[in-house]
Amino acid sequence: VQEKLRANERMASLGTLAAGVAHEINNPLSYMLSNLRFVDDELAAMAESGEGMAGERGREVREALKEALSGSDRVRDIVRDLKTFSRGNEEQRGAVDVRAVLDSCVNMAWSEIRHRARLEKVYDEVPHVSANESRLGQVFLNLIVNAAQAIPHGDPKTHEIRLSTRHEEGHVVVAVRDTGSGIPREHLERLFDPFFTTKPVGVGTGLGLSICHGIVTALGGRIDVHSELGRGTTFQVFLPVDGSPGMQPSNSAAS
Ligand code: ADP
Ligand code: MG
Repeated sequence: VQEKLRANERMASLGTLAAGVAHEINNPLSYMLSNLRFVDDELAAMAESGEGMAGERGREVREALKEALSGSDRVRDIVRDLKTFSRGNEEQRGAVDVRAVLDSCVNMAWSEIRHRARLEKVYDEVPHVSANESRLGQVFLNLIVNAAQAIPHGDPKTHEIRLSTRHEEGHVVVAVRDTGSGIPREHLERLFDPFFTTKPVGVGTGLGLSICHGIVTALGGRIDVHSELGRGTTFQVFLPVDGSPGMQPSNSAAS
């Protein structure tokens, strides 16, 4: 219990730090981005009207600007994810129906899913879990989007994303399975590290799974991964049914 409290405190102070950093970075960043975009637009207009820098030098300048813009876009994505992370684990919990949350995540991710896979749902009857609904939604949404992004655009009939729920030994288990690329062995141990990503700028920041891990751990649960290269991946989220071992006793009368 002592361990768990210490871990929770660490998460909380990390959250505060992340919130502070995200807040401080956001303003200058917006300013930077809007100015970079302005210069980019102006250069394009100048090039069109023939008053711009011509030739190799002009091309290099525009190239450098593109790099700066793409770097700033990446920073913006990271700041956005840090904000979500820091809004963290202190929110109100209630009794949550994981199947309803899964369904709303499917709706949100539908544009990612529909061109790549058919969707299968195998929902066993499961009890409610004690969680913050939007936090939990964030976990499932990232897993579902990751599943979709592991599958190439193409014929949605040839791939499947399967969502399932089951009840076992005091846990509700939510599984997200895909028939996508699979994960190379050497990536498995870094999967939950902040900023570990194999995706291009604008698609991934690598914060998704570390955020999922933080949220699920704070609920007293855990996440498992099974993956076969070239065949697909299954993520399983284990959530305790009764309250949360991470919660402190609410008052002395209860103890
Ligand atoms: P992001 O999605 O922004 O890259 P995540 O933390 O959500 O960050 O995922 C980290 C990395 O884990 C991904 O870039 C990808 O390489 C790998 N990954 C996660 N889920 C899957 C999956 N279902 N199939 C294959 N690779 C995955
Ligand atoms: Mg992700």
